[in-house]
Amino acid sequence: MFSNKLDIKNYKIPLEEFFDTNCSLFIKREDKLHPDVSGNKYRKLKYNLLEAKELGTNILLTFGGAFSNHISAVAAAGKEFNFKTIGVIRGEELIHKIESNATLSFAKKCGMKFHFISREEYRQKTEDEFIDKLKNIFGDFYLVPEGGTNSLAVKGCEEILTEKDKDFDYLCSAVGTGGTLAGLIKSSQSHQTVLGFSALKGTFQSLEIEKYTPKTNYKIIDDYCFGGYAKIDAQLIRFINNFKEKTDISLDPVYTGKMLFGILDLIDKGSIKQNSRILAIHTGGLQGITGMNQLLKKKNLPQIIY
Ligand SMILES: *Cc1c(COP(=O)(O)O)cnc(C)c1O
Repeated sequence: MFSNKLDIKNYKIPLEEFFDTNCSLFIKREDKLHPDVSGNKYRKLKYNLLEAKELGTNILLTFGGAFSNHISAVAAAGKEFNFKTIGVIRGEELIHKIESNATLSFAKKCGMKFHFISREEYRQKTEDEFIDKLKNIFGDFYLVPEGGTNSLAVKGCEEILTEKDKDFDYLCSAVGTGGTLAGLIKSSQSHQTVLGFSALKGTFQSLEIEKYTPKTNYKIIDDYCFGGYAKIDAQLIRFINNFKEKTDISLDPVYTGKMLFGILDLIDKGSIKQNSRILAIHTGGLQGITGMNQLLKKKNLPQIIY
């Protein structure tokens, strides 16, 4: 289970296609880790699933929304490694939309059972009483928190960087809960600056990161969140499509698209030191594009090409 011989390559982005600069940018194709458990979700699940096996638990239960990369990844990993999976999904109305929702229909095909709950109930997701209630319904399970962040997830994310990455000046990642960034910070060198691009308003994820590492060679910025989680506009879509055309690399609109938009803007503005070598982590997330394109169509916005 979970191969240790992963050979994830860094690809050079032809920045001269975008603007004049003496900085160089590479992207680590973690999106290529696994066809269905992509990017950082693979890293975050690895030690959790090994722990669940160790404990003799064969049921995984986790939480997520209707387009969640995490739900998709847990469902696929469960299928591959012989766990039953239960997805507690935010929004009761979705029970009627499983087949028309790309993420949920994929998870269902992998064998995931759903438990749809209201938004109010969903807010109790970390409370013991609520978890006990779920245990009464589903029996003993291994709980993977929403977004998948815990110390075992951070441990997995420490394996993203390798020896070869030690001479980059900047390491960049999209940030949701901050678990992935915590792993990168832990395995970074003290001369390296880790930049986190928040996918939502706020930089509160540093409180989560502090739980896992005392290191401070990082900065989280939310200047490129485009108004909030999963919010996107025509400018971001144009950027993602232009990036795909120039590099042949697909980006998702919730995380990696916003990060790359931010990195290129910071380089272009001169906010990144001259002659810097930058490594961006492609954390995956491409499964969410189908669902996003359905929403964009309804809003008469252009489609994302991938
Ligand atoms: C979940 C996800 C993230 C956020 O990871 P955190 O560890 O929660 O910060 C970033 N990128 C992609 C593509 C994701 O699916």
